[in-house]
Amino acid sequence: MAKIETPRPIRGTQDMLGDMADRFAHVVDTFDRVRRLYGFKRIEVPVFEATAVFARSLGESTDVVSKEMYTFEDRGGDSLTLRPEFTAGIARAYITEGWQQFAPLRVATHGPLFRYERPQKGRYRQFHQLDAEILGAAEPLADAELLIFADHLLRELGISEGVTLTLNTLGDAASRDAWRAALVAHFEGHRGALSEDSIDRLARNPLRILDSKDPRDQAVVATAPDIDVYLTDEAQAFFEKVTDGLKAADVAWERNARLVRGLDYYRHTAFEFVTDRLGAQGTVLGGGRYDGLIENMGGPSTPAVGWAAGIERLGMLLDAPETPKLDAVIALEDDAMLATALKGLAHLRSNGFAAEIVASGSPRKRFDKAAKIPARALLSIGRRDDALYINARGDGSDAAVRAEALFRTVE
Ligand code: ATP
Ligand code: MG
Repeated sequence: MAKIETPRPIRGTQDMLGDMADRFAHVVDTFDRVRRLYGFKRIEVPVFEATAVFARSLGESTDVVSKEMYTFEDRGGDSLTLRPEFTAGIARAYITEGWQQFAPLRVATHGPLFRYERPQKGRYRQFHQLDAEILGAAEPLADAELLIFADHLLRELGISEGVTLTLNTLGDAASRDAWRAALVAHFEGHRGALSEDSIDRLARNPLRILDSKDPRDQAVVATAPDIDVYLTDEAQAFFEKVTDGLKAADVAWERNARLVRGLDYYRHTAFEFVTDRLGAQGTVLGGGRYDGLIENMGGPSTPAVGWAAGIERLGMLLDAPETPKLDAVIALEDDAMLATALKGLAHLRSNGFAAEIVASGSPRKRFDKAAKIPARALLSIGRRDDALYINARGDGSDAAVRAEALFRTVE
């Protein structure tokens, strides 16, 4: 018979069990706890959208749209794209679901994203993000709140040491236009020293040259003008209110005047939380204000701000998480007691005890099998003189005593 070949996993996707899965779950659980403290509602949006949702909102000239999207035609002939980020889909939902009525709307979600990138440590083709957005809020307090939330999350995860908040302002439309003109003049003057990609960006989206990872561009980028002299008074005042908010909450930050976000619709606040603990993939969380996006997508003019964080990158920064422990494991040492053991097991679980039973294989080996499962209590269930016999051992906590007491109530 011909050998059956198992299809290989797709490059840049991940299967997780054990340590990585535990890290992933811990990041998501922590996010879910902290976002409630800040009044963010959970939302869900589709994993795929009409291609136009991303192509229009992200801007044709961004790396994500021009090189990284998973776009395909479905059986009905429509062009669909697997979401490369959350914001555009959330903005689409805000418009088509009429969520304007809830503005200002504070929402949070998490899930898989897809980008055709070169897979490496911390960079995958299917990866996962946490995402938080405030839609319909023009005031700098919204930006500050999101940053304080992000900082709080990192502290709760125990990874704020060695992760730095870097902050910039991209100003309002007038500041940005003036800065853009100055940047174009600077880059035109050094055209010969730029990479091919950046020469292309110069024509399409010159701000993005600041974001270039190509070493050839670094010298020209380093001498590029800052936005500061081009900031209007309003834009300057906005930035100060954001940083005042951070100061009041004791959130440390550093100015990075070269920071621009990869996407076209950012205004005012732009930020990244960065670390040198992850090699080249040093950005763990990034975001900013995107006041123009929803209008660009055909919706009402809507100021908004948000961030996204890579779950895998956050997970890699965690101290090794403890292996999750059951409260009790049951070793069934006499099959005649199966019904009693199952009743006891059900009773333990309805009382909030995480519990498992070992009831297969040779009864004599079940105790040893059960002892290998991390649990706070081990109950071995047998029969003596035709009656239930329980031998309970614990880890020093009261778990064994409580589990045995619960178990005995079902006799
Ligand atoms: P990078 O500069 O690393 O490419 P980015 O600017 O493209 O990041 P965003 O679009 O801002 O990233 O996404 C927010 C976060 O999502 C990043 O800070 C990172 O933690 C995570 N992220 C982005 N792309 C990937 C990927 N391919 N694999 C794993 N995590 C990713
Ligand atoms: Mg990227």
